Amino acid sequence: MSETLDLSQLVSRLVKIAYPELNQSCIKTTWGISSSFATISWTHDYKDVRIKCSNETKTWHEAALTGLLSHELSHLSKQNKEQSERCTDLDAIMRGFGPYLGVERLFAGKYEDHIIRKGKDRYLGYRSIRQLLNESELKHLDMLLEQLRLLPSKKNQPKLVHHDIAILHTAKDTMIKIDGHEFKVTPQRKDAEVGTILRGNTVHVIIDDEEVGHFDSPTS
Ligand SMILES: [Zn+2]
Repeated sequence: MSETLDLSQLVSRLVKIAYPELNQSCIKTTWGISSSFATISWTHDYKDVRIKCSNETKTWHEAALTGLLSHELSHLSKQNKEQSERCTDLDAIMRGFGPYLGVERLFAGKYEDHIIRKGKDRYLGYRSIRQLLNESELKHLDMLLEQLRLLPSKKNQPKLVHHDIAILHTAKDTMIKIDGHEFKVTPQRKDAEVGTILRGNTVHVIIDDEEVGHFDSPTS
């Protein structure tokens, strides 16, 4: 299974193929316990980039991980100034990862768009991604689904609450973005562990052992 999959090798390959602007970045990858499928953090000069994939994604097929990692790398796109999840998805599709993103959304249980920020932002679901692909990309996606014996279904519920967490470290502070909610921590905490705890319907955002904020749990 994907247990043997080398995350850093996969990331280097993606950078080489489609993210030339990250050639000079030092990108560290790890697996770990996480409340999101992936967490990406980077310094404002893009020199220090860290990607953590949840242990749950170790069982994912390489195609799904490729989709997830391309979404994470697209968070660093300079075009993506507003840092919306939708723009991040569109950037990954523009760079040619649409078929992989489509597969990833099925693994993540997102057949339909996952609406966040009360409709101001969204993660594109499998169905929307299909609509954005050209003919050869659609063929590629269908080939991957056939290879993985994956039947697109609306019934798959995501096991994790959040898709991913994006963390930008500026010289002064650390900005954490989860499901469209933003939390600013001063001073900067580059080496801190960021996570969430769900209690009732409230998601608590934790940096190391300290709570920095909370928000209502997303229902969709
Ligand atoms: Zn994201």
